[in-house]
Amino acid sequence: MAIIDGKKLAEDCRAQLKQMVVSLSYVPVLAVVSVGDDKASKIYVRNKEKAAAEVGIKCDVYSFPEAVFQKELESLIIRLNQDKTVHGIIVQQPLPKSIDGGVLLDFISAEKDVDGFGVLNAGRLLLNEKGGIVAATPKGILRMLEATGEPLVGKHAVIIGRSKIVGRPLAALLLNQHCTVTVAHSKTQNLPEICRTADILIAACGQPKMVKKNWVKKGAVVIDVGINRDENGKICGDVDFDDVVDIAKFISPVPGGVGPMTVAMLLENTVQTSLVQTKEN
Ligand code: NAD
Repeated sequence: MAIIDGKKLAEDCRAQLKQMVVSLSYVPVLAVVSVGDDKASKIYVRNKEKAAAEVGIKCDVYSFPEAVFQKELESLIIRLNQDKTVHGIIVQQPLPKSIDGGVLLDFISAEKDVDGFGVLNAGRLLLNEKGGIVAATPKGILRMLEATGEPLVGKHAVIIGRSKIVGRPLAALLLNQHCTVTVAHSKTQNLPEICRTADILIAACGQPKMVKKNWVKKGAVVIDVGINRDENGKICGDVDFDDVVDIAKFISPVPGGVGPMTVAMLLENTVQTSLVQTKEN
């Protein structure tokens, strides 16, 4: 068994980005729109700001109270789209119920949609067309899989979760890598049985320690996307790490797995799209 060290992979990625950013004639700028007081959301924004600063990306956070009007956020995004000094725009999730996040995403121009959640970038990924921006979490997961050195072609990947930000784009990305992909979700029957057929098992369902040893084929690669609190309030994933660790060939931990890679890939997307926008590539 080997641990897939997402923290180290993310550090290497940030170091490479830093080198690249230093050589640019401009400073890449990421605009983060944040609404309300969700505690987890504030932590994610702070992590992004910290990582961006390390790499040399300017991170402008636009914070709004929960009572903000949808129109005000839409006007801000229109302004940011037009601002040539801004290269990437994200809307931090989760949003208050009063805000329609899907509509906001539609306002972000595709070339600045560094989360890759907009319909154009998501569609390009689904159709395996070049030139789109790939969502950060799936992109980070692919890097982690590549880091194992295990071939992906023809492998059966089972993804637990069908969200717009993880399960669905990841399914498209792995299909584009010639995996045979099964997407499981809350209505799936015989989930443990399906998981046992996976060469690559990816848990992204937000259920603390749900995946047990008897769900995993011996020698499988297991990637844990979940960020949950266990019964003692400690951060844990969707995989019962201690139970599964001996049966998997490779396994990613929580924390220190997918989380840091997601942030690194967001920064990479920002630098890449800034190169396209400034034509410095
Ligand atoms: P979501 O709530 O939008 O979707 C959860 C998905 O899991 C749904 O498709 C649902 O059908 C499925 N699901 C729920 N319960 C299930 C069950 N018992 N069996 C099978 N499927 C089930 O979640 P999301 O936004 O995709 O996030 C999933 C998890 O990943 C969360 O813990 C979240 O915090 C974490 N996450 C981590 C990162 C990261 O960077 N590490 C990024 C995004 C999300």
